[in-house]
Amino acid sequence: MNIVILGASALAIAQRIQGLYPQAVIHGLRGRADGAERHYDDFGETLRSLYRAGQPLLVLCAAGIVIRSLAPLLAEKGAEPPVLALAEDGSAVVPLLGGLAGVNRLAREIAAHLGVTPAITTSGELRFGTCLLEPPAGYALADLQQGKRFVSDLLGGESVRIEGQAPWLEAAQLPVDKAASRVIHITAEQRPPRADELLIHPRCAAALIERPDAELPTRLQQALSDAKLAPQALACLLADKGWMANAELHAAAAELNLPLRFIHSDSQLPAECHRGDGLRLLLGDQPLQIERLGQRRGRLSVVGLGPGAAEHMTPAVRRALDQAEDLLGYDTYLKMAGPLRADQCLHPSDNREELQRAAHAFELAASGRRVVMISSGDPGVFAMAAAVMEALESPQSEAWHGVELEVLPGVSAALATAAKAGAPLGHDFCLISLSDNLKPWAVIEKRLQHAAAADLAMAFYNPISKARPWQLGRALELLRQHREPQTLVVLGRDIGRPAEALRNLTLGELTPELVDMRTLVIIGSSQTRRFPRAEGGAWVYTPRWYPD
Ligand code: SAH
Repeated sequence: MNIVILGASALAIAQRIQGLYPQAVIHGLRGRADGAERHYDDFGETLRSLYRAGQPLLVLCAAGIVIRSLAPLLAEKGAEPPVLALAEDGSAVVPLLGGLAGVNRLAREIAAHLGVTPAITTSGELRFGTCLLEPPAGYALADLQQGKRFVSDLLGGESVRIEGQAPWLEAAQLPVDKAASRVIHITAEQRPPRADELLIHPRCAAALIERPDAELPTRLQQALSDAKLAPQALACLLADKGWMANAELHAAAAELNLPLRFIHSDSQLPAECHRGDGLRLLLGDQPLQIERLGQRRGRLSVVGLGPGAAEHMTPAVRRALDQAEDLLGYDTYLKMAGPLRADQCLHPSDNREELQRAAHAFELAASGRRVVMISSGDPGVFAMAAAVMEALESPQSEAWHGVELEVLPGVSAALATAAKAGAPLGHDFCLISLSDNLKPWAVIEKRLQHAAAADLAMAFYNPISKARPWQLGRALELLRQHREPQTLVVLGRDIGRPAEALRNLTLGELTPELVDMRTLVIIGSSQTRRFPRAEGGAWVYTPRWYPD
């Protein structure tokens, strides 16, 4: 859920709602609601993009403002998320949109939490105390249009009887009559609804897939039709753990919009009701609790946060962070990865070496969790992605290969520093780590010599540290054998973070004392130039052309 507030006065109520929905994120107007977790500049644009994202949207302001802001989108047909307006003092909750996406249920929950009455206006729901067209989790309506007619018949005075188990209807105020001609039928059976019938399918079937291939959706539909089971009664696809990385299985689950779970030896499966081609249909007498049947495929996202500032983080990384259950990384990076939620589990890196950290991440993901491994900048530039690959190439457990692994790029320190300075990496360049922790110093010297001789611009990562005090001085000595003292140098320290500092100087002026481990050093090529900036200081760039 996204909660949007305009000013600081709404923050307290927004935070109370967050107590009810710990995953909710509060968006506040920049400069006016700084206690919020995310900040926006344009209210209307923000509301529209959150609406398009399809998550429930709770806006703490006048209902009219919300309606006006979303009006341009309402003509577009498509899935409509629940949208609610909430008085900023918490005294009124108005469900506005998303009647079939559970807006009234949210309004009731929020109102109960705040001790007020929700402004429910849906006739059927007011009369019967439940929305017949929106059965609870574990049940699916067979046909919406037919359902609407059925509800209006009941509102017109018809009585109804219930066949099958519908525990949520017991508390409803329906005009029940055992002799009624209208019937609410709860059944997994596949058949067209009759005109006087509201057909609701309990999700009590599962398909255990024994042979996934491109034809799976067709074979499954055939099996359901042979078994006379409604497709909506299918709660999930199940498969053996050995199929976890099978692309066709995942494609079928996505196409059918069904969760996919992998069974283990002590999974308690419902009884088989039909054997199809390469699959078995299982049927329980209650809606299935799929978490009990098996585990999800876990995911490991190896992400780069960028240099620091939130606006330099890619949306894909932000999404992975938001979806994560476990986050691993240095303490500083975990802080930079915020806003995080109380239900997310943080694993600040101890002094374990990188391969052990990668193994820890795989173990968590192999148990079905969503895990994010955090690096700063780009994860593939002197960071965790290579360690993760190395761990997976010789896995401690075959289960690691079942994990969904993705590497999400970020803005590396060299690129962030270069952008601040102008374009010093505008022509051919190389990235070199001066750390000799994992490679012999002789290799570094050789690379520096060749790079210098090739007149490449260079970016140095890990230029110096307490444990490596002399290496940078030695590197500069080597460079000076190939480059003039006037060669331009850029030092970026803590780029994209509050203490950001950028410095322009020359190779002749550069001494190791000016550099620390939070600095990125760019050494220009013979062609790198600079000229004054209107604001003061200079722009530095390496032209795209080269003299003959
Ligand atoms: N994966 C990171 C690099 C990690 S190596 C990336 O792609 O940026 C760590 C080195 O990166 C530091 O010693 C420093 O040289 C550089 N660095 C990382 N973040 C920086 C920042 N915000 N400003 C300047 N240099 C940075």
